[in-house]
Amino acid sequence: MGIKETLKALEQIGITEIYMMSETKDKKEDREEILRKLYEEWKDCKKCDLHKSRTQVVPGDGNPYSPLMFVGEAPGEEEDRQGKPFVGRAGQLLNRLIREVLGMERKEVYITNVCKCRPPNNRKPTPLEMRACFPYLKKEIEVIQPKVICCLGATAGEGILGKSLKITKVRGQVFLYPFNPKIKVFLTYHPAYVLRNPREEETLIKDFQKLKELISQQ
Ligand code: URA
Ligand code: SF4
Repeated sequence: MGIKETLKALEQIGITEIYMMSETKDKKEDREEILRKLYEEWKDCKKCDLHKSRTQVVPGDGNPYSPLMFVGEAPGEEEDRQGKPFVGRAGQLLNRLIREVLGMERKEVYITNVCKCRPPNNRKPTPLEMRACFPYLKKEIEVIQPKVICCLGATAGEGILGKSLKITKVRGQVFLYPFNPKIKVFLTYHPAYVLRNPREEETLIKDFQKLKELISQQ
């Protein structure tokens, strides 16, 4: 039945006025607004022991409409201080690769971490801490619905895929996000690892070239 016939039929049963709900759901302000509210809810989180040593919770940063989301491990010292992910040395390398290999600006992508609080001495978050924090990352993914999630390092990959990984084996490979198989999960090295092992920069660049292809696929 077309719209005219539907209106006629409704009129016959006494419905003469209808209100159209406007499609504002995916307007630009909305995702930003949703995320702002979420960050507000997270800022006092004490769901795991990492709250004891943090300066502040570090939520994601960037464009919530991006087809590309980067996920790291957890904030480091500089991130803990500034309240933003990847603003230290690893972040500078990440920014450079985003610009030089992907041809994008950092502000065009969304960047976040598996754990939102800095672990003491930058140790790897425990599985318990990762599980405690996962609902926040899951929520960010639900709101942003990226086409590709690029996991930086094994910890990020483990958090997203929910299984243990050997990054040297799985880097450069594409998986599917278990909670939404429309989203591709790409794994590569953590930039901090490449800073410690500069010979691996070439591999990271190659992976970013592959990442660029993945984002541009239909
Ligand atoms: N390393 C990470 O994994 N995340 C950050 O935000 C910074 C460094
Ligand atoms: Fe909460 Fe995550 Fe911080 Fe743990 S790491 S206290 S779960 S925000």
